[in-house]
Amino acid sequence: METMAQKSISQKAIELENRYGAHNYHPLDVVLDRGEGVFVWDVDGKKYFDFLSAYSAVNQGHCHPKIIQALIEQSKKLTLTSRAFYNSSLGEYEKFITQYFGYDKVLPMNTGAEGVETALKLCRKWAYEKKGIAADHAKIIVCEGNFHGRTISIVSASSDPDAKKNFGPYTPGFITIPYNDINALVNALKDKNVAGFLVEPVQGERGVMIPDEGYLAKSFELCKKANVLFIADEIQTGLGRTGKRLCCDHENVRPDVLILGKALAGGTMPVSAVLADDDIMLCIKPGEHGSTYGGNPLACKVAMASINVLEEENMYENSYSLGKILLAELKKIQTEKSDIVLNVRGKGLFAAIVIKERNNKSAWELCLALKENGLLAKPTHGDIIRLAPPLLITEKQLMECVSILRKTILEF
Ligand SMILES: *Cc1c(COP(=O)(O)O)cnc(C)c1O
Repeated sequence: METMAQKSISQKAIELENRYGAHNYHPLDVVLDRGEGVFVWDVDGKKYFDFLSAYSAVNQGHCHPKIIQALIEQSKKLTLTSRAFYNSSLGEYEKFITQYFGYDKVLPMNTGAEGVETALKLCRKWAYEKKGIAADHAKIIVCEGNFHGRTISIVSASSDPDAKKNFGPYTPGFITIPYNDINALVNALKDKNVAGFLVEPVQGERGVMIPDEGYLAKSFELCKKANVLFIADEIQTGLGRTGKRLCCDHENVRPDVLILGKALAGGTMPVSAVLADDDIMLCIKPGEHGSTYGGNPLACKVAMASINVLEEENMYENSYSLGKILLAELKKIQTEKSDIVLNVRGKGLFAAIVIKERNNKSAWELCLALKENGLLAKPTHGDIIRLAPPLLITEKQLMECVSILRKTILEF
């Protein structure tokens, strides 16, 4: 039982956020205070399985000791120099990450949105300086239902009315096509001013929309033929979430431009990266793009630790094999309760259940019930719940979560 005093701690925290913070989010009513591995605890000491993982930023689990160790060690030594000077961590990190993903160069940024902006700018520069598109005519193809971040240019490429409405005038130069539609891409690529195709290998925010097998490989091939850059936004799908190092690895696609973020710092700080080969990356010259915090020594050390942890603790394999189990279990729940669970899908430990709409709040209400039963997830849209636990979850823990899901759905 919660005591009145404890209740007031969480109530106070919520009231403070509502009173002093901008209302640009609508959080679930839980005030988190501590995290470790797959678990988080609220201010009342109640323990939950985290099935959001901060939108896949905490793939390595909360407060992973090796990542925290890297953070502490480097933060005592040097945290920021700006890029006005060289620093003793950046080159080491750049060598590490380019070799790890197999690219000539990396451009370090902080947030995911900055990574996407960087990729868009890089693509435009390449279009004018390499492809020979006439000034200001470059176009970039994006997909319906995308989520690439919140800047003006990125929301200009969005098809979500909430993300867009009253934020105009919008940045021109985007062509929107349906996701998972090869014919639409074929048609859009006929335009000679197209310079890039920006795509999420799985549309996470849209509700874990998984394209048909072969979509990425085929799209990549079409882009090659049209001399168009294939730009993969792997900010959410990368670093193990879908059961491989990158989601594009499932189809052996090596994007021309690769964008990473979120789990690149294991939930400790904003670190993003854009990777490409020299022919593309060297189109940007000194003074043409940058960020004060981009490539800071702290971020460099944390990013290396974050990738090492994924490798050393076999989190890609764990995501792959436990993802199969999760999906099979979700299918069983769907069969048992097909009046509520309309669909389930997943790739690695990136899954979603689509539930029957009652009042546009069904998914929200189910998430509240899950919270009561010790599992935190967040709806995307009115009827979809994304399930994305940290990748170090064990099979035993996963089965415990499956039973929480089953019990909650059966009672719903
Ligand atoms: C989260 C996300 C972004 C934006 O990242 P921020 O760090 O929130 O700016 C971009 N693309 C995808 C696919 C994402 O999931």
